[in-house]
Amino acid sequence: MTMPDNKPVDPRDPAASTAKTGNGQAARSDFIRDIVDEHLRTGRYQQVITRFPPEPNGYLHIGHAKAFGIDFGIAQQYGGRCHLRMDDTNPVVEEQEFIDNIKTDIRWLGYDWGQHEYHASDYFETLYEWAQALLRAGKAYVCDLSADEIRDYRGTLTHSGKDSPYRNRRVEENLDLFDRMRKGEFPDGTRTLRAKIDMAHPNVTMRDPVMYRILHEEHPRTGRKWCIYPMYDWAHGQNDWMEGVTHSICTLEYEIHRPLYDWFIETLLSIGVKPKGVDYKPQQIEFARLNITYTMMSKRKLRALVEEKVVRAWDDPRMPTICGMRRRGYTPGGIQEFLRRIGVAKFDGVNDVALLEACLREDLNKHAPRAMGVLRPLKLIIDNYPDGQVEELEAINNPEDPAAGTRKVPFGKVLYIEQDDFKEVPPPKYFRMYPGQEVRLRYAYFVKCVGVDKDAAGHVTAVHCTYDPATRGGDSPDGRKVKSTIHWVSTDHAVDAEIRMYDRIFTKEDPEDVPEGADWRSNLNPASLEVIPAARLEPFLASAKPGDRFQFERNGYFCADLDSKPGALVFNRTVTLKDAWARIEQKQQPGGTPKPGKGQKGEKKADKAR
Ligand code: ATP
Ligand code: MG
Repeated sequence: MTMPDNKPVDPRDPAASTAKTGNGQAARSDFIRDIVDEHLRTGRYQQVITRFPPEPNGYLHIGHAKAFGIDFGIAQQYGGRCHLRMDDTNPVVEEQEFIDNIKTDIRWLGYDWGQHEYHASDYFETLYEWAQALLRAGKAYVCDLSADEIRDYRGTLTHSGKDSPYRNRRVEENLDLFDRMRKGEFPDGTRTLRAKIDMAHPNVTMRDPVMYRILHEEHPRTGRKWCIYPMYDWAHGQNDWMEGVTHSICTLEYEIHRPLYDWFIETLLSIGVKPKGVDYKPQQIEFARLNITYTMMSKRKLRALVEEKVVRAWDDPRMPTICGMRRRGYTPGGIQEFLRRIGVAKFDGVNDVALLEACLREDLNKHAPRAMGVLRPLKLIIDNYPDGQVEELEAINNPEDPAAGTRKVPFGKVLYIEQDDFKEVPPPKYFRMYPGQEVRLRYAYFVKCVGVDKDAAGHVTAVHCTYDPATRGGDSPDGRKVKSTIHWVSTDHAVDAEIRMYDRIFTKEDPEDVPEGADWRSNLNPASLEVIPAARLEPFLASAKPGDRFQFERNGYFCADLDSKPGALVFNRTVTLKDAWARIEQKQQPGGTPKPGKGQKGEKKADKAR
């Protein structure tokens, strides 16, 4: 996927609001874009600068993609820029591995921050100076209460808090203690720096929030230079301001923090402190976080899935992480389209995972080359086909994309078909192969079942049929019709592959919906992964590289896994074919050739074309 060109768009040009998003689709307008329009119209800002501030303590998931899609998307749309700022204020949990993956994931979805990569730790020194300025102005103090005491003193939603006994320390004492905190004279947790606001404030966030805590920890970037670290609320808004961010877009849980975000900036301004070259204040705007059915998005719980080995890793294809989705075969275009369709709102809701899957199918249907792959093989022997003969039959690579061309598929006397495509005793309305029934082998011939081989236990080990040489290509010159088309591969030419069939990782729409005493683990789907050790695929798939995506006709979309190697292929099932498929099969044609849904129309046409 490519980024739209980065030509600056005149933000006041009405056409700007129909500028393209990362997937080349017109951006939908929403309340955030309305606010941005208004800011530009009234001249509050001359340009748009946003930021995405991930905490490098885990992998990004699809919820984060919604957030950075908004941050980068709006910046692009208005010809501005979006900064990537690692929120590395907590040295305990951050790792380089996470930082690297965050960048990979954002780029994969088509966004780029250019030169503008920052770290909250870049600003530690300036923040420290600004904190000293607040101390000098009597707007902050060093507090000796413990974390528990601070919590007790804070009060509740219904009861106001009470002042810390250290609240009225003199300026000199505060400056001295803060300096010694920095020098490492005090153990962890013994002192904090707090803003002096109002312990009776109706908004609990405003009750003298902690700005710094003591943590004798090595930081991945600043090493041992610091043993006091700023809290999110103190660092974040000031960092936005220092970078000249105009719109600081975040999720709804930060709404109650907005008064504090504004208080810090106003208070600093009132004492003459401001970043160089920035003559405006940033505006925080909150939107509803992304929730998806059958999906859990708490980083802590995702980490538990990895640590408890429920999944193989952060990039397990069942994970809602971006790396998991990538590994599974999801496309940036499909994810972008999903995000575009759900839009941006101010109220929490839950989106249907089926919509995400539908967006993927649409994208894969357009771009994924078709192939034949037999997941659960059963031998089919064509009794009247000449021994040793091999024909190369022409198959269409992608009926949705004529430019994708055609390929040759080898055909011979012995083939594999799906076990499911044969029934010795057909149930009612079964139109696939059974004794006496004629079907079409995709791109090949009409064949009629004439018998079976069985083992001692009575299981069918091979099916025998005869073919009609006049039906080469799949149509009968006498106008004879068949009720179904089945896929196949030639036994002599097939390549083996392990197939990993993924299903939803939770059995409940809301993974947190559990009976008393249970937790989300009780909703895990024990059948979320089924491994098929030896599927048989069309020979050209032998050269598939990890990440290559295909439609295995009638079976779904598949992607070569990272574990896949020449001679030891592994494919993930990305997503099944159209949902409607299952309904149509049940109602009209159990197991038959699917009715032309969107993905199948081409197949029908392709059949007729020959
Ligand atoms: P943590 O609990 O570790 O803070 P987090 O998911 O909030 O987890 P961050 O790295 O702080 O992780 O997130 C970066 C940004 O992504 C934040 O601005 C956050 O609001 C946003 N974000 C996180 N989860 C979602 C979600 N489900 N939908 C939309 N945005 C999200
Ligand atoms: Mg967070």
